[in-house]
Amino acid sequence: MENKPQHCKQCGREIYFDGICANCRAENEKNKILAFTEDEINAKIGEICEEMAAKGKLDDNYDIFIKLLDYRDINTENIAKTAYNSKVFFPCELYRDASSDIVKAMLELVKQDDIDAGLAGDLLLCLAVAGGEEVFQAFLELERQPRKWRQKLYVNPSFYATYGGWTYDKEGNYIETNFNKCYTLIKGSLEEKKKSPVKIGVKTDEKCPKCGCAIVNLMEIDGRDERLDFIGIDGVIKAKCCPNCFTFSEGDYCRYTVNGESEAIVGEDTGEEEDYLGESGIEELTSNTFVLGDKPVPLRFAADWDGGSSIGGFAAWIQDCEIKMCPDCGKPMKYLAQIQWDTVIDSMEGNAYIEICKDCKTMVMLHQQT
Ligand SMILES: [Zn+2]
Ligand SMILES: [Zn+2]
Ligand SMILES: [Zn+2]
Repeated sequence: MENKPQHCKQCGREIYFDGICANCRAENEKNKILAFTEDEINAKIGEICEEMAAKGKLDDNYDIFIKLLDYRDINTENIAKTAYNSKVFFPCELYRDASSDIVKAMLELVKQDDIDAGLAGDLLLCLAVAGGEEVFQAFLELERQPRKWRQKLYVNPSFYATYGGWTYDKEGNYIETNFNKCYTLIKGSLEEKKKSPVKIGVKTDEKCPKCGCAIVNLMEIDGRDERLDFIGIDGVIKAKCCPNCFTFSEGDYCRYTVNGESEAIVGEDTGEEEDYLGESGIEELTSNTFVLGDKPVPLRFAADWDGGSSIGGFAAWIQDCEIKMCPDCGKPMKYLAQIQWDTVIDSMEGNAYIEICKDCKTMVMLHQQT
């Protein structure tokens, strides 16, 4: 059967079915939740708790829980209590605002030797999201004196911690892996983009030595705009890479100065890559009109499937949360920004992520998709 291209009835983009595109549907759902009254939110929280108590899991109300947390920043203290009493440890965000009683109870559980490794992994994630000094100290202890379940997990507690926006280095120093403010990037005009302190996809005159495609600043950030004070950059930084090759790599690094100079670090392996973007892909990527939003949004606003592009806050990891180690100082980098790839190149999927080490003036750009 042949599907003829049609146009989304809302935004006009080309789709292969009758109706509105996935991006527009997600947008409509978001707007519906943004318009919820307090009573409506509380009613949904009631349904979330009822389901966990009745079924011992969160299934039917999973999506609405995540979206209420992301878009409306709901307090999860009561939800965490019900979740713990119902032995529900997924998703970990249920425990974001868990009371100290619940945190203590989970710590007691995870410090045991003989619990199931799957449960231990879930508990580590829930505790990571709850955060706090006690959790941090317990993670250090668990990493230095591993319990039996550790043999069956692939990674250390310090990796789980990054889901909560923190971790620690080898010496046990606490490190924040996320910024404490978030702005989304919204559609503007070409004129507005010229003035926006955050730009996605700006072409340079360099060519990639591996595939020949144009090197692009995936993001340009002018930290002097007061909205971006939270990043603490007194100048312009540019996250530069080959927009084709970085999607196949484990992460491409660049060195920057706050005067807007950046040098892409091309790895040792100089094998040729095929250029899948081509000139038309570069043209599409660099002609987007995204601009920085006016007001901050909740930290997890973009930590959602179809969360869009954003700076600061939490990312929507399509696979595992992936905080890279700085190639210069060896310490965990800090998550800085995300670009939802299909909003800038229609035929592509996944998200691009940018992380930074301000001490070494280094950024990394990585890509994940399903
Ligand atoms: Zn649409
Ligand atoms: Zn390339
Ligand atoms: Zn560093």
